[in-house]
Amino acid sequence: MEKRVYDFTEGNKEMKALLGGKGANLAEMTSLGLNIPQGFTITTKTCNDFMDAGGKFPEGLWEEVLEHVETLEKTTSKKFNDLEAPLLVSVRSGAPISMPGMMDTVLNMGMNDQVAETMIKLTGDERFVWDAYRRFITMFSDVVMGLERHDYEGVFDKIKEAEGVSGDTDVSVNGLKETVAGMKYLYKEQMGVDFPQDPMDQLRASIAAVFNSWDTPRARTYRKFEGIDDKMGTACNIQTMVFGNMGWDSGSGVMFTRSPSDGSKGLFGELLFNAQGEDVVAGIRTPMHLSDLHDQQPDLYKELENIAETVEEHYKDMQDMEFTIEQGKLWILQTRTGKRTARSAIMIAVDMAEEGLIDKETAVKRITPGNIDQLLHPQFDPAAKEEAVLLAKGLNASPGAAVGKAIFNADRAEEHGKAGEQVILVRPETTPDDVNGMIVSQGFLTQHGGGTSHAAVVARGWGKPCVAGCEDIRIDNNRNLFTVGEHTINEGDWLSIDGATGEVFLGQVAKIETAFEKETKLIKALEWADEIKHLGVLTNADNPEDSVKARQFGATGIGLCRTEHMFFDQEGEEISRRENVVEMILKSEVAAPMLRQLEALELSLDDPEKKAEYDALKAKADSNEDIKKYKKALENILPFQRSDFVGIFEAMDGYPVIVRLIDPPMHEFLPPREELLEEVTMLRCKGDNPEELKEKEYLLSVVESLWETNPMLGLRGCRAGLMYPGLTEMQVQAIMEAAVEVKKAGVDVHPEIMIPLTSHINEMKAEHEKLKKVAEKVLKDADMENLKYKIGTMIEIPRAALTADEIAETAEFFSFGTNDLTQMTFGISRDDAEGKFLLNFVDRGLLPSNPFQVIDREGVGKLMKMCVDAGRKTRPDLEVGICGEHGGEPSSIEFCHQIGLNYVSCSPYRVPIARLAAAHAELDYPKKK
Ligand code: ADP
Ligand code: MG
Ligand code: MG
Repeated sequence: MEKRVYDFTEGNKEMKALLGGKGANLAEMTSLGLNIPQGFTITTKTCNDFMDAGGKFPEGLWEEVLEHVETLEKTTSKKFNDLEAPLLVSVRSGAPISMPGMMDTVLNMGMNDQVAETMIKLTGDERFVWDAYRRFITMFSDVVMGLERHDYEGVFDKIKEAEGVSGDTDVSVNGLKETVAGMKYLYKEQMGVDFPQDPMDQLRASIAAVFNSWDTPRARTYRKFEGIDDKMGTACNIQTMVFGNMGWDSGSGVMFTRSPSDGSKGLFGELLFNAQGEDVVAGIRTPMHLSDLHDQQPDLYKELENIAETVEEHYKDMQDMEFTIEQGKLWILQTRTGKRTARSAIMIAVDMAEEGLIDKETAVKRITPGNIDQLLHPQFDPAAKEEAVLLAKGLNASPGAAVGKAIFNADRAEEHGKAGEQVILVRPETTPDDVNGMIVSQGFLTQHGGGTSHAAVVARGWGKPCVAGCEDIRIDNNRNLFTVGEHTINEGDWLSIDGATGEVFLGQVAKIETAFEKETKLIKALEWADEIKHLGVLTNADNPEDSVKARQFGATGIGLCRTEHMFFDQEGEEISRRENVVEMILKSEVAAPMLRQLEALELSLDDPEKKAEYDALKAKADSNEDIKKYKKALENILPFQRSDFVGIFEAMDGYPVIVRLIDPPMHEFLPPREELLEEVTMLRCKGDNPEELKEKEYLLSVVESLWETNPMLGLRGCRAGLMYPGLTEMQVQAIMEAAVEVKKAGVDVHPEIMIPLTSHINEMKAEHEKLKKVAEKVLKDADMENLKYKIGTMIEIPRAALTADEIAETAEFFSFGTNDLTQMTFGISRDDAEGKFLLNFVDRGLLPSNPFQVIDREGVGKLMKMCVDAGRKTRPDLEVGICGEHGGEPSSIEFCHQIGLNYVSCSPYRVPIARLAAAHAELDYPKKK
C-alpha cells in the first residue's frame, strides 16, 4: 500500500513536492537535531486522491493516521483525551510552494471540556487553559466549519467590554471561562449540534478542511495568477502543540536570520510574550523587537542566534522562522527561505559568499536583474507614500521615483527645466518632438500608450521614471490641466510618480536615493559577474558624460556611438552645424550628382578616354559654386565633430569606441514641411520680402523632393553616404583626426567605424573603399600608421544577415541593430504597431512577448545565428555584437551568449544588469573551459 503519512523523523527537505514546504522542512530540522515539536505529515498526493474521490478519505488513510497518532502519543508520552497528560496538536496546511489563500492553521486541537479540566489540574493555570480553549473554538468554527469568525470573536469582545478591558490578557479568568461557554452555546445554535468533544472527530474534520481548502476559489485564483499547477496539492501537518501563552516566561515569535529589508547581519524579528501562534502578526499587542531582546534577555537571544547560525549553515540561505517559547524552553515551528528586498538580496548573497557559506557563482546567481533594476532607481520612502494622496495608477513603464511640477507641453517643460525646476512632463502620449522637454524632466506621465510607447522606451533608455497609459487621468491640453476623480491638477502643481508601481501621487513625496558608487555590495557582486561572464558589456553612448557614467557602471567600451546629434547645434558654438547641414542638402541638388560622377570616373583613370572625361568634369566641378558651397558646408562641420570625438575617446581611454556613421533620413535635418508651407504662405500674402520668399520656396521644394512615403525604408543609413559624396568621408576624417590627436596625448584609442543599414555587399564595398582611403590618409599624414582601427557594419536588414558570408569579406566586425532587424524581419513598423496591435497580440498570446523588448529567438534570432555562423566562416575572428535595445534585456542577453556574440551594448543604466545577465548566461550555458 502507498505510504500516505510520514513522521517528521521520516522526511527531509528534498521531499517538498510530497510533504509540502512546511512538512519537508520540519522533518529536515528534526534530523538537524533542533527542538521541533513532533508530529507527522499527510502527503500532497493524498490531497489529490481526496479531491478525486469527491472529498472522501482515500481507503486506508484514516487507519494510517491513527497509527501515526499512536506513535506520536508514544514519543510525547501524551495522549488525546488523557486524564494524566492530554495531547493537543495543531493542524497546518502546507503546499510545496508557499501559498496564501489556503487553509489557516488550527491550534490547540484535542481540547474539550474534560481536557480543559485535566489541564487546569496539571498546570494550575486556569487562565492559560481557558485561553487555549477559546482560541480553539474560534479557529475550529471558522477554519474547519466555515462559520463567521467575527461572531466568535464577538463573544470574547462582549466579555471584554463588560469587564471594561481592551487587551486579551487583561480579561479575568472567569471572563475567559464565560467566553468558552458563550462560544460553545453559539456553536450549538449555529450548527444544531454540540461543539465536538472527541479529538478524533476534530482531527478528521480538520484534515478534510485542509484538503478542501486546496480547491477554494481564492486558492484557485491565486494559483492561476502565479501559474502554479492545480495538481500540486497541499500536505497536512499534525504537530504537537507547544504553548507560548503559558505565562510571561512563554511567548511566540518570528525571526529572519538576517535583515530582509537591508540584508544586514543579526536577527531580525519580533517576539510577543504570553501569546500563541499568530498573535504576533495579528498585532493584538506591540511585540518586542529581537534587537531589544538582545539587551533584555541575552541568553535567549544567544540561543536564537545559535539556531539561526545552524539553519543558515545548513540551508545556505537566509531563513524566515517561527518559534515558540514554552516556559523558558525554545521550540522551532517553521523555517523557509526568507523573502527579501532587492537591497537585502544583494547584500546577503555577497556576505554569504565572503563568509564561505556559498561560492561566488551561487552568490551571483542569487541576484536577479530585477534586484539591480530596483536598487539603482531612486525610490519613494514607503512611509511617505502611505500618507500621500494616490491620484491614479497607470502602467509601470520605467522604474524609479520622480517628483516635479506637472507641465503639459515639451517646450514649456524645457523652459522650466532649464530654469532649474523639477518637471514631470504630462502628455497624452509623447513623440520624438517632445524630446527637448523630456531631457530636462524628472519623469513622464502619459495618458495613452503602453509599456513600449515612445515615452516608456525613452524613459528606460535614460533611466528616467515613467508611468504610461494612465487612462484614469483626463488631460485637457487647451487648458493645461488634467482631472482625475475629484482632483484637478493644473500646470505647475506638484506630482510624484512611481514608475515601478505605476502610481501617481499628488504633491511631493519624499524619496530615498541610491548612488551606484555607494553600493559596495553590488559592485563586489558585479566584479564577480565580470570574472564569470563570457560576453563583453559595452554601452550605447553619444557623448563624454554618458561615456564616463557608463564606465562607472562597468562598461568596457562603446558599442554604439550615434553621430546624428553631431549635425545639430550645440550650445556655445559660433557656427551653426545645422545651418551647414541644410546648406549641404540644398546644394546637393546640383553638387551630389556631379561629385558622384567624378567618383565613378576616378575608378577608371587608367583608361585615357575616361581620364579626359574626368579632367573635364573635374575642372567644371572645381569652379562650380554649388559644389564649393557643398564642400565648404561639410568642412565647416568637421572641426566640431572632431572635438566631439576627442571628448568621447578620452572618456573611453583603453576601450573600443564603435562609431555609427550618419543614419537617419536626411529630411530630419530640415525644417518640417508644414512649418515651411505656413511661412511661405505668410510671405506670399505679405509680399514684402521677395528674397526670403524665394529662399523659403526653394527650401520647401527640397523638403518636398526628399519626402518619403516610408522613410524607415528610404534614403538613410549607408545609402546617404553613397548618395551624398563627402558626407561620411567627413565623419571618418573627424574620427581619425580625433584618434590621432588623443593618441598623441597618450590616450589608448580604438576607433571602429560602423556603416549602418547595409543590405548588399556592394554597398559595403563602395563605402568601405572610400572611407578606408580617408582613414589611411589621415594616419599617413600624421605618421601614425600603427594606429589600429576597424571598419565594419551593422546588421539590421535581413538580406545582410542572409549574405553575411559575403559581407564579412569586407566588414571587419558586425553589430546587430536588432530594432531595425526586428522591424524588417517581422515586416512591422514599430511606431505604428506597438500602440495599435502589437501589444494586443501579446495580450492575446498570439506573440509570446513583445519582440522589440525580448528577442524573437525563433525568427529574428535564427537569422542572427545564421549570420554569426556564416560571417565567421569567412572571417573566423569576426567580432560580433549587438547594439539594439535588446542588448540590455536579460533573456536577449542569454540568447546573444548562446549564439556566440562577443559583446552586448546597452544604455549606461542597463550596464550593471547586462553584466549580471551575462554572468547568468555563462553559468547556465558555459562557454569558457
Ligand atoms: P501559516 O502558514 O499561515 O504561517 P502555520 O501553520 O505556520 O500557518 O501556523 C500559524 C501560527 O501558529 C504560526 O505562528 C505557528 O508558529 C503557530 N503554530 C503552528 N503549529 C503550532 C504548534 N504545534 N505549537 C505552537 N504554535 C504553532
Ligand atoms: Mg507559518
Ligand atoms: Mg537602425
